[in-house]
Amino acid sequence: MQRQPIYTELSNCRDCYKCVRNCPVKAIQIKDAHAEIIYDRCTFCGTCVNECPNGVKQIRNDVDLARMALMSNRKVIVSLAPAYVSEFQELSDNFLRALKKLGFEYISETAIGAQLVSEALDIYLEEHGSAPFVSTACPSVVHMVRKYFPETVKDLAPVPSPLQTHSAYLRQLYGDDIVIVFIGPCIAKKIEADETPGYPDIALTFREVEEWLEEDNIILEDIDTGITFDLCRMLFRYPELTG
Ligand code: SF4
Ligand code: SF4
Repeated sequence: MQRQPIYTELSNCRDCYKCVRNCPVKAIQIKDAHAEIIYDRCTFCGTCVNECPNGVKQIRNDVDLARMALMSNRKVIVSLAPAYVSEFQELSDNFLRALKKLGFEYISETAIGAQLVSEALDIYLEEHGSAPFVSTACPSVVHMVRKYFPETVKDLAPVPSPLQTHSAYLRQLYGDDIVIVFIGPCIAKKIEADETPGYPDIALTFREVEEWLEEDNIILEDIDTGITFDLCRMLFRYPELTG
């Protein structure tokens, strides 16, 4: 059975209860003298991972899934969070080259999905009048609303999240026989991938990809700058889809 995106290596738990004290929604219980996550309450915010002094609260590593996808005959396409620019700064273009070197066919920015969501909301508001919405961009917020404020579920934006929208856009562009790998800073995107399979298929954090590059001896500072990439950044590159 697939692990949850955040899990506990029970055998290594030192029972310090730091995670219990710091979980913002009290989603960790002591059972058999170990600190276990109650998934019905968890919002996948990642606080316990940061707080555990013993590395016992872990983030599921999905790099092997991405490696297997790259070994298949299917096109593997990255939906890249725009935060890569601040994460890798002057090496951000080299990060794109590194993704090409790993074998990804295309790289497209998740921000395209956000742009499509904004346009859809504009149309919805024109037809239904104004209303405040809670954005569905953050899976943690969506879980918080569903689990702790169910009376406000109706206030969630009535469109798929930017990542799901971007994934649908990529499928429209490249066909259904593709694998979409989201790459970004966010742990909670893994639960979004689990809950909406195919939109995207796999979600990796920047940290996972950095470790992957290290394993494959790909050093951003030394990468061949002759590697070309085509970053799909704006919708106007695909006027046939935007009308
Ligand atoms: S991920 Fe967040 S909500 Fe879930 S158990 Fe850890 S601290 Fe609590
Ligand atoms: S913080 Fe880590 S070591 Fe301490 S109780 Fe939680 S999981 Fe166990």
